Amino acid sequence: MNRRADRLDLHLHTTHSDGSLPPAAVLELAHKAGVTALAITDHDITTAIPEAMEAGARLSIEIIPGVEISSRFGDNELHILGYFLDWQDPTLNARLGTLRASRHSRNPLIIERLRALGCDITYDEVRKLAGTESVGRPHIARVLMEKGYVKSAKEAFDRFLAHGKPAYVPRELPEPADAIAWIRAAKGVAVLAHPLWARQNGESLYKLCEQLKAEGLGGIEVHYSTHNPKQTAELLDIAKRLDLLVTGGSDFHGVTKPDIEVGVGRGELIVPVTLLEPLKRAAAA
Ligand code: AMP
Ligand code: ZN
Ligand code: FE
Ligand code: FE
Repeated sequence: MNRRADRLDLHLHTTHSDGSLPPAAVLELAHKAGVTALAITDHDITTAIPEAMEAGARLSIEIIPGVEISSRFGDNELHILGYFLDWQDPTLNARLGTLRASRHSRNPLIIERLRALGCDITYDEVRKLAGTESVGRPHIARVLMEKGYVKSAKEAFDRFLAHGKPAYVPRELPEPADAIAWIRAAKGVAVLAHPLWARQNGESLYKLCEQLKAEGLGGIEVHYSTHNPKQTAELLDIAKRLDLLVTGGSDFHGVTKPDIEVGVGRGELIVPVTLLEPLKRAAAA
């Protein structure tokens, strides 16, 4: 791949959570895509950051310490990204540890359901494939793929794992205000990930962002792999009206989201490098 125009990617997963590539491999792809600064935002864990920093120094890519925390929103979830946080903060890591533990409470119940549905898999197999303490449904999807029960992660979610499907089991999740407060307590900036997952539109999405801002939210993820130009414009407008920071990223996961590439998403994503300074200033404030 030729080097592309300079850009950011502020939403990336690695093998430290449910991504399929280790940090150094993600950084290599970022380098090829023209990414000059990036954030590793693994779910509920910050252990990828030292390895990313090492590769970043080699490839001249700035690493922004990050995390992604799922929170409850009725029947749905809001994902809160944390940027520039003190990723070694003991209180933060204790809180993330509790979230990882809630994954281990839920996952065996998902496996039980899958077994009742005729899929012969065990949680040990899932944990072995995951190789991390932050075990998520995409890891379960990958075991289902490897054992031939499904052809893709999408099929695993559509048939079994998504909300409302027969193997779905909810997880203990914090309130959005708690996730935001935990990130801020670790000196980070809290940003609403993929705001359209909240399935709100127009005025109700505005109201939701307004509410979250009152709870300490600093920005929203305007640029995202699956956003069309109209959606991007709508989110940009909300960010402007509420004086929220604008961020963006691919949400790269590797094999469980095979259509999404680092830095470029489905091909059209460009997260402008000009977004970095305002985010930095907010973190330092
Ligand atoms: P968990 O954190 O274990 O509840 O799993 C949720 C994660 O699964 C999300 O953060 C996404 O990364 C991933 N995910 C959700 N829906 C899908 C899907 N349809 N295909 C692939 N990955 C998905
Ligand atoms: Zn994920
Ligand atoms: Fe997310
Ligand atoms: Fe994500």
